[in-house]
Amino acid sequence: MSISLTVRNLHAGYGQASVIEGIDFDAAAGEIVAVVGANGAGKTTLLNTIAGVNPAREGTIRLGDLDITRMAAHELPARGLALVPEGGRLFPFMTVRENLEMGGFSQRGSARFSEMLDEVMELFPILRQRQKQWAGSLSGGERQMCAIARAVMGQPQLIMLDEPSVGLSPKLVHQVFELVRELARKKGLTIVLVEQNVSEALGVSDRAYVLDHGAIVRSAPSSELSGDPAIQSAYMGL
Ligand code: ATP
Repeated sequence: MSISLTVRNLHAGYGQASVIEGIDFDAAAGEIVAVVGANGAGKTTLLNTIAGVNPAREGTIRLGDLDITRMAAHELPARGLALVPEGGRLFPFMTVRENLEMGGFSQRGSARFSEMLDEVMELFPILRQRQKQWAGSLSGGERQMCAIARAVMGQPQLIMLDEPSVGLSPKLVHQVFELVRELARKKGLTIVLVEQNVSEALGVSDRAYVLDHGAIVRSAPSSELSGDPAIQSAYMGL
């Protein structure tokens, strides 16, 4: 099950600084949408504002028909929205399995719970192998997969991923993105992906937005952007 996200005229910032300046942004149900841009463009701030971690200063955020603009971060998982922050923020001294269990905490004890665990381990077979290992001892790629799987345990309809490629080798980045695509296809989720790795992000997504100094400067189908010489030279090192 998936849900749409609609952002209109969003403004956010810190103290005197304005970081997000009037963003319009859409993700249709079931779509993989990438937000790409350089360091400091405001990508994390955008995700954190949608997820209720930072307050919106102006504008509206809708999840399906529901206005979530003023909702706090802890209210949103129950509405179907999950955020996987940069680095994953796993509990390092808990096992992989315990981390996954934490993700599905609200269902704990129900008959559905073990089915859910089984489902995510189907999706991420490496986690079945590693389930008894401390999360802190996972490799970068495994950690990222565990963080995504933990979010899936909360049965979200939309997952937002903040720079899942950070710290990973090119091969692992590709593997993680392949899994993201498979996840979207198998679970029919909506995915919003924020990335500095522009070529991989455009490769996995249906549509993308280019964020520059807190404003959207381009939006187009990802295949169109990845073939665009201006995007290639500005963001893809080509
Ligand atoms: P990166 O790719 O490097 O993570 P980003 O596009 O995600 O960058 P943000 O992390 O959203 O960008 O940062 C945008 C701007 O907001 C930067 O100038 C940053 O220094 C500033 N900023 C981010 N978090 C805070 C904060 N908690 N307090 C003050 N300024 C902040």
